[in-house]
Amino acid sequence: MATVRLDRVSKSFGQVKALADVSFECGEGEFFTLFGPSGAGKTTTLELIAGINDRYHGDIYIGDRRMRGVPLQERDIAMAFENYALYPHMTVEENIGFPLRSPRAVSRTEAEINTRVREAADQLGIGQLLDRNPVQLSGGQKQRVSLARALVREPEVFLLDEPIAHLDAKLRAAARANLKDIAHRIGTTIIYVTHDYREALGMSDRICVLREGKVEQIGTPREIYGNPESDFVAHLIGDPVTNLIDGELVVDGDTLWFRSSAISIPLTEGTKARLKDRPTGVVRFGIRPKDVKAHVEEADGSVPMTVFSVERSVDTNLIHIDIGPTIIAAMAPERTALRAGDPVWLDFDADNAMFFDSTFEISK
Ligand code: ATP
Repeated sequence: MATVRLDRVSKSFGQVKALADVSFECGEGEFFTLFGPSGAGKTTTLELIAGINDRYHGDIYIGDRRMRGVPLQERDIAMAFENYALYPHMTVEENIGFPLRSPRAVSRTEAEINTRVREAADQLGIGQLLDRNPVQLSGGQKQRVSLARALVREPEVFLLDEPIAHLDAKLRAAARANLKDIAHRIGTTIIYVTHDYREALGMSDRICVLREGKVEQIGTPREIYGNPESDFVAHLIGDPVTNLIDGELVVDGDTLWFRSSAISIPLTEGTKARLKDRPTGVVRFGIRPKDVKAHVEEADGSVPMTVFSVERSVDTNLIHIDIGPTIIAAMAPERTALRAGDPVWLDFDADNAMFFDSTFEISK
């Protein structure tokens, strides 16, 4: 196991600045996730760590060793990509042992190779499958074989680029659990790339959110979800997406209000205390749909609105409300009869609201 440290790493492809001053340190044995939208620089970061690409500014360290000029094959790294790419004509045993038998591998006896293959297979819980061919395996088993093949060299660092992105939603949930179990078993440092926030939140020790080649926030899943430092992170993490509403903080009488063109929400003393660095003025108000309840009747402090659309699912109903510059979402009771055009009253749990500077254009 080793640490991986990036110190102000920048990388351009011609005019495209893929990474700009990216710094982070991933600890020994940590499950560290690079998360961000398409084009954020996740794969580029992995490729620089792996040594696939060696033209960049800044420094990369694996353990104490500076990686500049260290060729790919001398880095103690294994990479697994989305595609399992098992050799169909080889058994599981042969697939896993393949890297150890390649001409480039350190010379080992057959007995040593067999022992190592068995260890890697047992580590991943596939010891009983060694005689099978890939065609006889389930998707999850193939994934484990592919990971065992990457692991067999006992890498210091494991780089995983969207290894389960191609699976459908149901299989993905199982594969997430599978990968978490694998990570636990191997205990190696893992740098994992995904643009799926559920994977990032569900598996990582820490998440590094990348945005247009820059680090936006690094934190534990709890910190990233519970305390996003920007409107961008709040918007990216959460399904349904966090409501973002532009407006102002204004004092009226004894009360601090959030006011936008469509809504006014009184804020509690607790929220006021959280806002001591941002007492009044322009603000982007963020609130997750779970903290906005839609009622069919007026209640104390609720805000009157009109239903724009209703999204029904098995256990929740999401009400969409057009508030002018944007459409926000609220939770309605399970058996709501609300329809588009109906009046609705929204109850904002402002204690859970977030307050940001606006860093991107909100669109409908
Ligand atoms: P995705 O989730 O779509 O894989 P990503 O976060 O992994 O995206 P990168 O693939 O690292 O993003 O790309 C970062 C930026 O660098 C993008 O703007 C991309 O178009 C650009 N880029 C990456 N590789 C190259 C290349 N070989 N030549 C030119 N531009 C590149």
